[in-house]
Parts: sequence; C-alpha cells; structure tokens
Amino acid sequence: MERRFVPGNARLLKELNQYQILDALRRHGSLARSELARITGLTPPTVGAITAALLADGLLLEGEGLPAASAGRRAVPLSLNAEWGVAIGVLLSITRAQVLAVDLGGAVRGRAEFAVRSGAQPGEVADGIAAAVQRVVAEVRPRRVIGAGAALHGLVDHAGGVMRFAPHFGWRDVPFAAMLAERLELPVVADNDVRCMALGELWFGAGRGVQNFVCVRVGTGIGAGIVLDGSLFRGGRALAGEIGHFTVDLNGPLCHCGSRGCLETVASGPAIARRAGMESATAVARAAEAGDARALQALADAGTHVGVAIANLAKTLDPELVLIGGGVARAGEHLLAPLRRAIAAHALDQRAVVPVHPVALGDDAAAVGAAALVLERFFRGGAVPAVLGWMGRH
Ligand SMILES: [Zn+2]
Repeated sequence: MERRFVPGNARLLKELNQYQILDALRRHGSLARSELARITGLTPPTVGAITAALLADGLLLEGEGLPAASAGRRAVPLSLNAEWGVAIGVLLSITRAQVLAVDLGGAVRGRAEFAVRSGAQPGEVADGIAAAVQRVVAEVRPRRVIGAGAALHGLVDHAGGVMRFAPHFGWRDVPFAAMLAERLELPVVADNDVRCMALGELWFGAGRGVQNFVCVRVGTGIGAGIVLDGSLFRGGRALAGEIGHFTVDLNGPLCHCGSRGCLETVASGPAIARRAGMESATAVARAAEAGDARALQALADAGTHVGVAIANLAKTLDPELVLIGGGVARAGEHLLAPLRRAIAAHALDQRAVVPVHPVALGDDAAAVGAAALVLERFFRGGAVPAVLGWMGRH
C-alpha cells in the first residue's frame, strides 16, 4: 500500500530528529557533528540542517570545550547553551514546597522553599508556589522561563495534570497543573513525585546513560519510579511503581489504601518511628547514629522489608541499578546495608545482584525531575517555547 508523506508527518519527523540531537548533547556534553550523526543514526546533511537551525536559535554553542589549536573546521564540537533559559521545577511534598530554577544543563540556578501547613487547601498552596516562583525568577533573572513542572504527592494523572488522590492532604481530583498554569501564565506539566525523582536522576543524576533502573523513595510513603529502555514507565493507568502497597504481611496492620500489611505499614517513616517508639523517623535516624539498639533494629527491619520488595521487583524488571531516595534514606547505611543484604539473599543469580546507591541529586532530585519534564517536552516540541512573554510582564 502506498504511504503518502503528509506535512504533519514531516513535522513530527523533524521534531524527533531534533530531539535526538538535543538529547545526545545532553547525555554526552559536547559532540562534533560527525559524532552526532554516528550516535543518532541521522545522515550528516540532516545533522547539519538541524544543528544550523538550533545554532541560529541560540540553543547550541559551537567550539566550546576544545583547545583552540585543535579545533579544526570540521571537528568543532557543539554543546547545549545551558544559559539559554530555565525550567521551573516544583516539589509539593506533605510538609513543604520547593521551587528550583534549572537550566538546560541541569544546574540549579535559584531556589525557594516554604512550609505547607497541615490542612492546607489547593488554592492557597498554588498561590504560595506562584509567589515562590516569582521570587526565584526575580533573583535568577534568566533569559527565558520555558515552563514549570510539578512533582506532586499521591496518585497523579500526568496527561491531565490532575491530583487524583493525595491521601495526606485529603484532596481528590484537583487540577493542580491548570491552577499553577493560570497563576504563572506558563505551560505546566505534572507527575507523581517519585516518578519525577527517577526522571531527575535519569537526566542529570546517577541514572544518566542507564537504560533500565528503579528509583525507590523511602519516606512518609514508599514508591518507585521505573525507567525502562531509557524512558519513564507509567503503566496503563499511570499507577506503575506503587510498591509501598506490596503486601508483605497478610494479617498485618490496616493500610490507608484499605488493604492489610502493605510495605508502607512496616517500612515507611511513620512505621519506623512507631516500631522504634520514637516521634519521627528523623529521631530514629539520630538515635541510630548514637548507637541506640531499638532504633538500629527498626531501621534494619525496614531496610530488610524494602530490600525484599526490591528483590521481587528485580525479578520482574531486571534493572541494572537501584537508586534510593527520600527522607528515611538519609539514615544511610543503617538502612542501606540490611536492604542490600536482603536483595542479595533473595536474588536469583548471586553473580548479578543489582547494585544499590543513594540518589545523586539528594533532596533536589524530584524538583529537578519536574523541571526535566518541561525540558523533555521542550526538546521534543521545537526551538521556540510556547510562552516567552512572561518575564516581561513581571
Ligand atoms: Zn496499602
């Protein structure tokens, strides 16, 4: 059957090619045109045409990173112009909101943070975030603000930017991305916070260049962001990665999800504090540091439970790497050592036990990932962002 090549397809193809070039430069830092052609599989004329357009837009720099003497005409490397603009990354967690301005190279150029009071309503939280974004932008004075990404707690509909269910706020079906977009007059994209954490690590952290990995957040809740074949995996209804609700004890305590004995009921921050008889997981981590036996045992039990869950996940997905983030992960080896032992004890192949490391971006991982949601769209969408006028109006 004859396939007609319509202009819409040509545009999509151009966007895909452009994405491959921008993505290769993000991953490799700086590349000559010939290396870009080899890595992307595009022809040299295509690489030449696209890079010429991107250079004209100022998105690329030419000749960076090579000594002048060796910079031959044909081998002049290209790199991303990190200062071309920033994406705003927002993390809305249970107790605080964090706002970062992240440049095209993943560097954090400015930041703000404020406490979210318990019982806060969506409108006032969105107002607070909008004010924080304006403070950060006024301080950083970027050339452009490309858009804003929001890493949100609970079940998040990525496509619609809707918080379907945020158990700790008691919010249901809150169109938070649209509420932020209205206040910021910027395009806003949103996803679940753990998935954003995984994306942040994939783009700018310990997951850079890793095709298959899992990022597990152990905090007030437990969840996993899954990267398969170099892309974030969301699942059929965007519910993938809810490992906090793996059943670990059929007769265990009741979980807020309605089931019994979920991983969260034995290994989340509040569960660790309860088992140690202390007020918070932070207090447990402090006590463990001082050698308190009960605190050490509570962290070891939690680490073992999370490790078994990861071992099960590893048998399903075969990841090359596991990254651990979240508040409880700050307890470091008191949690990670028993976690690694549990993974090894339950691995199918003792010669290929998946390595476990802390996230590289620390407490910034989710907000940087939220900014990466914006950059990913921008890289795909073309050289000119949807909204450029915002800076001039404030
Ligand atoms: Zn549950």
